[in-house]
Amino acid sequence: MSDFSEQLQKYAQLVIQKGCNLKPGQELLLRVSTDCVAFARLLTQAAYDCGARHVTVNFNDEKISRMHYDNCALEVFEKIPEWASLLNNSMAREGAAVLTVDSSDPMAMVGIDPAKPVASTRAAHVACKEFFDAMDLGKIVWCIVGAASPDWAKHVFPQLPIEEATERLWEAIFKTVRLDTEDALAAWDAHRASFVARSTWLNEQRFDQLRYNNSLGTNLTIGLNPGSIWKGGGDVLVDGTPFFPNMPTEEIFTVPDRLRANGVVYSSLPLVHHGSLIDDFRLRFEDGRVVEHQARVGGDVLASIFSVDENAVRLGEVALVPYSSPIRETGILFFSTLYDENASCHLAVGLGFPDCIEGGVCMSDDELLAAGVNKSATHVDFMIGTTDLNITGIKADGSEVPIFINGEWA
Ligand code: ZN
Repeated sequence: MSDFSEQLQKYAQLVIQKGCNLKPGQELLLRVSTDCVAFARLLTQAAYDCGARHVTVNFNDEKISRMHYDNCALEVFEKIPEWASLLNNSMAREGAAVLTVDSSDPMAMVGIDPAKPVASTRAAHVACKEFFDAMDLGKIVWCIVGAASPDWAKHVFPQLPIEEATERLWEAIFKTVRLDTEDALAAWDAHRASFVARSTWLNEQRFDQLRYNNSLGTNLTIGLNPGSIWKGGGDVLVDGTPFFPNMPTEEIFTVPDRLRANGVVYSSLPLVHHGSLIDDFRLRFEDGRVVEHQARVGGDVLASIFSVDENAVRLGEVALVPYSSPIRETGILFFSTLYDENASCHLAVGLGFPDCIEGGVCMSDDELLAAGVNKSATHVDFMIGTTDLNITGIKADGSEVPIFINGEWA
């Protein structure tokens, strides 16, 4: 077996065993692109090696999806086909693990009518309520991993021939999931343990505010909600089954107080938004709102992010990622949130996650807003971590505790 085939097989086994934690007799729903058939076969075999009862493979093709968007009327997307809801809901009822392989071309949907994917997402959430509830309420495992496709790789390595670019992207993906360590399965167990230790510590501290400083000029304080919960790394089903919703994963995150952010923050990595680049930008916050923004590149795209709705100017996420993250160490801009948001400390404007606040999953929209959790139709991550970033936790009594010193956990 070539070195590459061996790595790919190890990757498939890692995803099935640690990401999905697949149990004997369990169903697997695999959602994957026609660009990754070889990897889909390895995942299927790895699932059967773990005793899977049956693997259902739901192939998609991005170029055909694009044809749908270009040719079908908006109303077509307002309803999803009955077979799709039957498939998803019945899989959820069976307790299947849901594995999504993302190999998408970051520019594949540039120029389509944005109302169509919005309508389709909305329709799916209604028709597949059982499926989404099972994932949101911790009843079934879901896992998203990456796979290199030529159409993705050509944007990451535009200077290379397509085949070499794809190979390089695979190598980078392997590194981000620690396949370069001697025992990747053990490395992920240790990774989980370090996340548990750090999020437990953060949750015990009950910080009221975070203060960010670095030499780019970032000087920002962000308020936290009284019941805020830090999460990250692995997740656990209500029955106690551990799994990893994302591979790679390096972030520990929570939802900040939507009304309390003050100061200036500078971006540290470019942001790709709907196929357009935004770079070297700064935002100034006052009482939780972005009141001023400037970008050296893509200022108009940056402005469009804040115009989605009235709460798109407020924060929905703060995430802590050490500068030594293996994703940043690759030195690659992946043009994919799955990777890029694990490269650096980041913030997100827009929607805040209800499960990052005590009792949040049972709250109504109004209750969430009152508890400080932002509500918006958008959620856009942007990277702010640098090698000299300091983050200080400030408690309600004014005492201060260092969280990050020079870009790393204190
Ligand atoms: Zn994040």
